[in-house]
Amino acid sequence: MPSLADVEREALACTRCRLAEGRTQVVFGVGNPHAELMVVGEGPGAQEDAQGLPFVGRSGQYLDRVILEEMGLTRADFFVCNVVKCRPPGNRDPLPDEVAACSPWLEQQLDLVDPSVVVTLGNFATKLLLRTTEGITRLRGRVYPFRRGVLIPTYHPAAVLRGGGEAAAQMRADLVRAKQHLRPPVEKMGVPA
Ligand code: SF4
Repeated sequence: MPSLADVEREALACTRCRLAEGRTQVVFGVGNPHAELMVVGEGPGAQEDAQGLPFVGRSGQYLDRVILEEMGLTRADFFVCNVVKCRPPGNRDPLPDEVAACSPWLEQQLDLVDPSVVVTLGNFATKLLLRTTEGITRLRGRVYPFRRGVLIPTYHPAAVLRGGGEAAAQMRADLVRAKQHLRPPVEKMGVPA
């Protein structure tokens, strides 16, 4: 089985979809390769494309702050990535064929990190991983069985920054819910408690 670093090396040269043409670099994802929490957003923006890291702008700073405050975790503890690894031009939504082309990278990340909790940010990641057409407003607030753990959908931090107090409170509640489902690290390592 390849390591996450092996998969990242391969992904950095990916040209499977048209988003390769306009990107500065592939934004693979970053964080603890054995994280219990994996956070999945939509796609890189301008700052992420320039730096090669996900969630480095205002939304990212907000995301880091609420995860630290509600879950006690930093970027060194969790893993964060996007549904598409290259920036869509003009920050448009990723197209269905682009999501389909890129999702094998996300599947490999899920296989290798093997988180107990996946938090999806916004519609794209939530719809893709839950295989549903329902929107985030209807889907959030619940816990869904997912792989060997659970999936907890919440709003994208950019939407929370636009949406104000109620959305912010709901996102925090979702993160509190996520914390309750984190698997103790010792169990993940296969060591009896
Ligand atoms: S968006 Fe994904 S599939 Fe498309 S080129 Fe980038 S890494 Fe490859």
